[in-house]
Amino acid sequence: MTYQSVNPYDGKILQTFEELSDQELESALERAASCFATWRHKSFAGRAIVVARAAAIMRLRIDEFARPVTLEMGKLIDQARGEVALSADILDYYAQNAERFLAPQHLTLNCGQADIESSPFGVLLGIEPWNFPYYQLARFAAPNLMAGNVVMVKHAGCVPQCADAFERLWLDAGAPEGAYTNLMISYDQVNGVIADPRIKGVALTGSCDAGRVIAARAGQNLKKSTLELGGSDAFIVLEDADLDKTVEWAVWGKMNNTGQCCVAAKRFIVLEPLADHFLEKFQTALAALEPGDPMEETTTLGPLSSESALIKLLDQVSRAIANGATLILGGQRINRPGAFMLPTILTDIEPNNPAFREEFFGPVALFFRVKNEDEAVMLANHSDFGLGGSIFTKDVARGQRLASRIDTGMVFINHPTWTAPDLPFGGIKNSGYGHELSASGIHEFVNKKLIRVALISDLA
Ligand code: NAP
Repeated sequence: MTYQSVNPYDGKILQTFEELSDQELESALERAASCFATWRHKSFAGRAIVVARAAAIMRLRIDEFARPVTLEMGKLIDQARGEVALSADILDYYAQNAERFLAPQHLTLNCGQADIESSPFGVLLGIEPWNFPYYQLARFAAPNLMAGNVVMVKHAGCVPQCADAFERLWLDAGAPEGAYTNLMISYDQVNGVIADPRIKGVALTGSCDAGRVIAARAGQNLKKSTLELGGSDAFIVLEDADLDKTVEWAVWGKMNNTGQCCVAAKRFIVLEPLADHFLEKFQTALAALEPGDPMEETTTLGPLSSESALIKLLDQVSRAIANGATLILGGQRINRPGAFMLPTILTDIEPNNPAFREEFFGPVALFFRVKNEDEAVMLANHSDFGLGGSIFTKDVARGQRLASRIDTGMVFINHPTWTAPDLPFGGIKNSGYGHELSASGIHEFVNKKLIRVALISDLA
């Protein structure tokens, strides 16, 4: 069954959802297309009323939205509430700024006059992951609805209650039917939707494997796509970093969402003079996390999102060790019901170890010691991924110089990663292409139309 809520805390099946029939899918596409015909002509102010109302509802019913996140994918309840609040901020941000971001742009020319107008593409398909079940949807829906597009979303199979809650949110906020549609559909149906002439663009957030399939399908059909894929972000510690604060951020960067973030700190690269001290403190802090019910405020270590995610990660760790890595901490499931894994540290990962190139999506840290900052940059860049990364140092100017040498879409100095409505988010290399959030996020699926006026007598 593709769309099923299973609580990873105890393995219990909570709810199962039927997939749409082809006929139901066709009706949904038709509703979306006819909604676009009117939604595109609604004023920015009119759209903003709906989007801001959705933000207000999320804030008002924060616990109601947070609960299914924790139940379906095991996020600690406090972090689930944080995600709801952040999603509401994203909705408000686009409600308040979309008109300014998409205002016609006047070009200064040598002769004649020209303007660039932004107009919506039409119906868009978003394919989204489970790790931030609302935040990912908000990043896609808010800018596009404000731009005049309408959106259809195929959410991950393991978070159907969240998918359903987010769809109902839009109706509660007064959006017309078809403005936001949740699609519980098969991969084959996704292929059909991408090819459908009513669909004008595709945004995927997910794994590289899914990225290859979805981008190929979009390409075959000459549709624009954006890809927000995985990462293996470097967390670089220079010899002058504030050790205690850096270790606190290292734990946060590794363990937020139980390590299941595209921009989680995944490779810890520490300069020799601090390496032993850092490792000792980091190991102690990770070992102190207490597994428990993610619904309890006091729990510091939740389960992974599912049993299959746990098995995949344990297998990656075993293969890393079989290929020469040294296990410093953890490496096993926790002896209790649910998809719990001990926080894990691996070191001695050589470039010929498959682990060197893989994304570890969970509480597994890869530790590297290096002699100097040049080696740190070289190692950080020796990756197929190019999403984020961070540098810890008391010398901010030095941090900025190193940041410019790192081949990723985002680098953070003195904190591991960050996201906010006004910060662009996106990667390069196998981490994908295109941006979400900030002004950049609203320009992805709009037609930048040139309108030039010349004197009819200006014959060349
Ligand atoms: P995933 O397995 O690729 O799934 C992502 C979405 O794509 C799900 O809705 C999934 O549906 C769907 N999907 C996968 N293969 C498909 C196919 N062949 N045809 C149609 N739909 C397909 O990734 P995940 O495990 O959910 O998420 C984790 C990955 O996402 C990690 O690599 C993480 O780094 C990345 N991520 C990136 C960002 C970013 O902004 N760069 C943010 C968050 C996560 P089903 O669930 O039904 O399989």
